[in-house]
Amino acid sequence: MRRPLVAGNWKMNGSRAGIKGLLEAVRADAVQTPGVDIAVCPPFVYLADVEAALKGCAVAWGGQNLCQETGAGAFTGEISGEMLRDFGCRYVIIGHSERRALYGESDAMVARKFLAANAAGLIPIVCVGELLEEREAGTTEAVIARQLDAVLEVVDATDALARAVIAYEPVWAIGTGRTATPAQAQDVHDFIRPRVARRDKDAAAALRILYGGSVKGSNAAELFAMADIDGGLIGGASLKAEEFLEICLAAQSA
Ligand code: PEP
Repeated sequence: MRRPLVAGNWKMNGSRAGIKGLLEAVRADAVQTPGVDIAVCPPFVYLADVEAALKGCAVAWGGQNLCQETGAGAFTGEISGEMLRDFGCRYVIIGHSERRALYGESDAMVARKFLAANAAGLIPIVCVGELLEEREAGTTEAVIARQLDAVLEVVDATDALARAVIAYEPVWAIGTGRTATPAQAQDVHDFIRPRVARRDKDAAAALRILYGGSVKGSNAAELFAMADIDGGLIGGASLKAEEFLEICLAAQSA
């Protein structure tokens, strides 16, 4: 039985004053949803505030990205996995479609970031997903396989794989209000798990595969009811306390 995870990706949103109320609400969510792992991924500069607000409660936090290099050095503007750990992060999002599309992150770069996250003791949330034109061309599985295989090829310890989280996020559903149907999402999740099983059967069975793409309080329950959907990576709705709680409650009752 996989424990559901609901992770909020705040993207480049928030202010020191503005996130206070949201963090209080998220803290309270955890009390109502003991069967769900909850995490928030704020912009780096708010990590200290998030750590102070969430320390001692069941909600975890993470980065939205990390540098592919480990250790310290001349990498201006970058944040290492070790730095994220220093601020108490448990998770880090890797290969979000916005990073792939806007910052040119290749599959190979995402794989390096996976290794850097592991080396720092972080749990990577690896995002994969196809563009609308790729779905329409019938190449969804080929795209997911390419993105996934890049990571599977570099993992040398299968326990790292079992600890990792995959987020299937169809690019056409991110921030668009257009959600994949539960059946469309389940189809892809059911492609991902056997693909991971080719590398390690037990790791695949334990692996949490999240769905992301316009998840809201009103559609979370039907998505989380699918056999291979183990929670959600939530963008816009994670900034709204009530919506986020509704999503966490849907995961709790799934
Ligand atoms: C995301 O940013 O990962 C995401 C899924 O965004 P949204 O929920 O806003 O579509």
